[in-house]
Amino acid sequence: MSEVKYAIVTGGSRGIGKAIALNLASEGYHVLINYQSNETAANETIDEIKNNGGTATKLKFDVANTEQTESVLQAWMDESGVNYIEVIVNNAGIKKDNLMMWMTNEEWHSVIDTSLGGFFNVTRFLLKPMLTKRYGRIVNVVSLSGVKGMSGQTNYAAAKAAVIGATKSLAQEVAKRKITVNAVAPGFIKTDMTSDIDPEMYKKIIPMERFGEVEEVASLVSFLASKNASYITGEVIHVNGGLYT
Ligand code: NAP
Repeated sequence: MSEVKYAIVTGGSRGIGKAIALNLASEGYHVLINYQSNETAANETIDEIKNNGGTATKLKFDVANTEQTESVLQAWMDESGVNYIEVIVNNAGIKKDNLMMWMTNEEWHSVIDTSLGGFFNVTRFLLKPMLTKRYGRIVNVVSLSGVKGMSGQTNYAAAKAAVIGATKSLAQEVAKRKITVNAVAPGFIKTDMTSDIDPEMYKKIIPMERFGEVEEVASLVSFLASKNASYITGEVIHVNGGLYT
């Protein structure tokens, strides 16, 4: 029997993360689906993966909380006897838009702690076994906002730009061990996060005149997570219908 391979997708219960988790499961990974609070969505995602013949485990923790992240991951490792996770997808993120002059401390810190802190908490904990194994894939879901900026998103853009910097630095630290670290930067994608935005208002500025589908981001993540992407590292790849061009 071939060895089971493991992948983790933070914020894997809904939206882009869910599509990534479904893809990785269909490629044969046992997927750890992290989520924060929406139990129903997490259960639905697990059921969908199982109905498609895949396997998955849900792990509830707040990626922004170092202790919680490490204790839940450690408990899963103790129970499963597994400590090496081949693919890490740091996808969990929130937005709390506000103009800087009105932005609260909470809006600033929670957005940064989730995207940037989450990347750090999860990746640092899982990195050692990956280095020992001398193979791994890390994919960070960032945003067009972190590259070009966006009015009302100083917190979100700062968080995503910081993850891009960390992606490039970590890529250089671990390249020798055949671990790649890349970032995927979506533009406007149809999920709960963008449900308050009217696509009609933005169609004019998106060359493809539509929002992206979650699968269009997930297929890129699958490629970066695969052996086929072995010489790509430290990159930021855009999935935005031409919006950035
Ligand atoms: P979404 O539909 O709102 O889903 C967010 C997911 O993240 C949910 O599974 C949620 O779990 C989880 N999550 C949120 N905070 C968490 C925390 N502190 N700890 C653990 N899990 C947490 O979002 P999305 O649109 O799919 O976005 C996914 C990623 O893509 C984010 O990093 C986002 O910034 C980025 N992105 C999205 C777009 C877009 O247009 N949608 C564009 C660019 C970048 P619960 O359900 O339990 O809350």
